[in-house]
Amino acid sequence: MVVGGGPAGSLCARRLVRAGLNVLVLDRHAFPRVKLCGGWLSPMVWDVLELSPTEYPGGLWPWSRCHVQHGGRLRTFEGSGHFIRRYEFDDFLLRRSGATVTQHALRKIERREDHWLLDDQFQTRLLVGAGGTHCPVARQLFASKRVKPVAAQEVELVVGSAAVAATRVGRDGEPELLLHDDLGGYSWNVPKGEWLNVGTGTSEPREVLAAWSAARELFTNAGHLPEAAIDGLKAAKGHSYYLFDPSNLNDCARDGALLIGDSLGLAHPLTAEGILPALLSSKLAADAIIGGTVSRYPSRLAEHPLMRDYALAAELLAAGIALRNRGRDRAWSLPSSKTVTRLTQAATARAFAWMFSGHPIPHAGVWRALLRKAHFLTRSNPT
Ligand SMILES: Cc1cc2nc3c(=O)[nH]c(=O)nc-3n(C[C@H](O)[C@H](O)[C@H](O)COP(=O)(O)OP(=O)(O)OC[C@H]3O[C@@H](n4cnc5c(N)ncnc54)[C@H](O)[C@@H]3O)c2cc1C
Repeated sequence: MVVGGGPAGSLCARRLVRAGLNVLVLDRHAFPRVKLCGGWLSPMVWDVLELSPTEYPGGLWPWSRCHVQHGGRLRTFEGSGHFIRRYEFDDFLLRRSGATVTQHALRKIERREDHWLLDDQFQTRLLVGAGGTHCPVARQLFASKRVKPVAAQEVELVVGSAAVAATRVGRDGEPELLLHDDLGGYSWNVPKGEWLNVGTGTSEPREVLAAWSAARELFTNAGHLPEAAIDGLKAAKGHSYYLFDPSNLNDCARDGALLIGDSLGLAHPLTAEGILPALLSSKLAADAIIGGTVSRYPSRLAEHPLMRDYALAAELLAAGIALRNRGRDRAWSLPSSKTVTRLTQAATARAFAWMFSGHPIPHAGVWRALLRKAHFLTRSNPT
């Protein structure tokens, strides 16, 4: 049984069905359903899905340039990726899984000898938790996360192709990204044909509403939002989810129960990309189930190059924050001139655009060696 029919649940179900298992997916919603999400897919998503973008029947917006606002300047960078609409994408993936799907909001999970009993009516030997941030399998069977979640506000609305084309920064599908000056999050404004997807995410949940309001104001004042969208933006909704932290992998498989995707907390520590790691974890979990090696799922996930890259990103982030704080404490910092500030902001915007294309961190070995040398390898010893 797979609890949750998002990208993680449906890919896992598909692989299990193809291996001949009898799979039931439970989801609290009837599909298609709205899922708050920008709909950005980095290139590796297609490999994990074993699907060519040309085979995807829904709306698809490839992009090769992104426009990054940071430090009061808008810069354009080359990159690559796609945007989809989650309303269509998730429905497609769930249908493609070939599993039986039942609409049911799971509440109670009990252990009975060699199986799990769910809400007194479903019985299964293997239980996959793919219910996202508030997954009942994660909450009831596994340890709670040590880190706090990030928060987001977002809305996807129909505005009309002409209105979107008249105000967007680049071509259709090219994202405008506002990297917040304090680097505590970013906002986006993505044209998708007649649709517009606008949102904000912050690492500090208390700051998300103020950041969302500031982003709307900035996009509006810049003339990058159609008049017809302004009211619709007030309908934005909030959601939270967990970024990757190595400790999230400590407790994710036992007694025939596994966690995948957002239920486990795998989104990229800097970009918060969550669909790719959700799919990767579901693939590895399904393969572990099929191969009878469920107990090795956590280590296989942790050792995967993508998760190692995420772990390095988390370490670098922690090191960067520690360095900045130490600089504040000791009253030293980089020499501040307008030129240094502008160069730093340009480099930051470029690095952000680079990661937005889903590229792994370059020269990973050098960074790891530097971190080790600087005793930054553990977050508990940041100095
Ligand atoms: C505003 C926002 C923007 C984002 N933008 C991007 C982006 O552009 N690109 C990207 O890669 N990631 C993005 N993410 C992250 C991404 O949406 C998630 O990482 C991804 O959806 C995780 O997939 P999942 O299958 O694990 O969980 P979900 O997609 O959340 O699916 C979980 C499913 O479980 C079901 N469920 C929950 N509880 C129960 C229950 N009790 N019983 C039965 N079913 C249940 C839900 O109905 C849902 O269908 C964004 C997130 C947010 C909030």
